[in-house]
Parts: sequence; C-alpha cells; structure tokens
Amino acid sequence: MPAPAITFTLDLEDHRPSDRAELRYPMLTRRLLDQLDDIGVTGTVFVVGEVAADQPGLVREVAERGHEVALHGLYHRPLTELSPEAFAEDLRVGKARLEDLVERPVEGFRAPMFSLVRDSRWAVEILRDAGFTYSSSVLPARSPLFGDPQAPPRPFRWPNGLPELPCPVARVGPGKVPFLGGVYLRALPWAVVRAHLARRNDDDLLWIYCHPYDFDPDEPYWVVPEAGRIGSRLLWYGRRRAFARVRSLLAGRAGGPLGLRAAALSADLPEWRPPTGDPDGSRTS
Ligand SMILES: [Zn+2]
Repeated sequence: MPAPAITFTLDLEDHRPSDRAELRYPMLTRRLLDQLDDIGVTGTVFVVGEVAADQPGLVREVAERGHEVALHGLYHRPLTELSPEAFAEDLRVGKARLEDLVERPVEGFRAPMFSLVRDSRWAVEILRDAGFTYSSSVLPARSPLFGDPQAPPRPFRWPNGLPELPCPVARVGPGKVPFLGGVYLRALPWAVVRAHLARRNDDDLLWIYCHPYDFDPDEPYWVVPEAGRIGSRLLWYGRRRAFARVRSLLAGRAGGPLGLRAAALSADLPEWRPPTGDPDGSRTS
C-alpha cells in the first residue's frame, strides 16, 4: 500500500474577532507542541509577523522544540489587497523579525488564506528577491475564498525558479478540497480521507495544515463574518477529535519540516508557466 510522507504544518495566527476576546492561541499552541513532542513529530510553523511581535517567547519555543519557523505574512492580509511595494516591505520586516527571534534563516512563506492566485502572481518575483527558498501559498482548486484552479496540484517551480508546494487537494463531490487541512480534515468522513490517501503515490509531497483553533473545542462560539452562520458552525465542528486525526495520519509517515523536503526536491521540480491572456482562469479544469 502506498504510504507517502506527510508533513505537519501550523499557521500560527490570532483569529479573534477583537482584542477583547480571550487570548487562547498561545495556550493552544503550547499544548499542541507538547502533543507533537509526545509523538516525536517536527514540522513547519508559519508565523504571522504580528504574532511574533506579540508572543516572541512562543515563537522561540517553536524553534527550540525543533520545528521550522516560516513566515505567514506580516498582518495576515491577502496578497490581493497589497501592492507589490507593500508586500516587499512586509516580507523584509517579517523575515527579519522572525530571524532575530529564532536565530536561523527563515526560508519558507505561506500566503495568508492561500491568496497566491492569478491576480497576485507578481508576488513570486518579490518572494525570491527577498530570499525565500520556497512557497506554500497555492490552493490548486476553486475555493470560496482564494484558489488557483489553473495551478498544478503537485510541487512545481515558478518560471523564476522558486519552488511552490501547493496545498494537497482531493476530489470530493463536485469539487476539489484541501482534505488534509483545517475544517476539511475535521469534518470529512474519516473513510473519505483514508481512501484519498490510499490512492496517493509514495513520492507525493503531502502536508496537513491547521491553526491553533482547530484544536480548541472550548472556544466560545461567534459568527465569523467571512464564513456566515452555517460556515461558522463548521469552523467549530470536530475540534475535539482534530488531534487524534492528525496523530493517526502521521503515524509511521511523518515527513519532517517542509523546508527540508523542498530542498531535497527542488532540483527535480518541473517548471510551470502560468497561461497568459486567459480572462477567466477558473474555467480551466
Ligand atoms: Zn492563515
């Protein structure tokens, strides 16, 4: 049976509706770090620059416990809302802040909300110029928020050479979904997740992505504006079992930090040249 390695990744961000809500992510992240220690897994933690300013000790702890620290934007704003100049400045400040804390190079980047899409591909050049050696920013599917259905579902190189590790997706019903991430990982029937995994090749580069709140069944409920009432219910669904699912996925196949995997692959990655002049990228399958 094929058993591709799976990397654990966490997007370390403060998702509270306001500063008055209880600050839970530092406690949740430390508990999660303990659980990962228990199963002997290290992965990659994509940290929002603002979070690093608020919780420097937590970010240091992530690195001291063996995880790769990478950047998840300076303020968790989608790339589509930034100018190239603002993005370059965010990268400069965010990278330097993380490197000061963890005292090692920060080489990976994940766009907030997978917002590296057709209209923000200008960001690829800026990422490389800022010294990042890989990106994990593309959701190669249609999505209610951000997605790039034109992009390849397997790791590739942008024309400037930067490796991209797209979010693993699987067909569920009419669309493709990030079956190893967040709400999908918690809410999909377990048999569906396992069946998709069983179809993967040994050399697939698979990763889980989660947030601290994915492991927080006790967070007081609120309606997340972008998700609406039904979507918000889903955002709370299955949190109690989230780590059990993560543990089960990683058992015997934990892949280690993404940066190491990207470096091992990078010479062999196929280049992808995004098609130009397509007024509606979402029509390509
Ligand atoms: Zn995020």
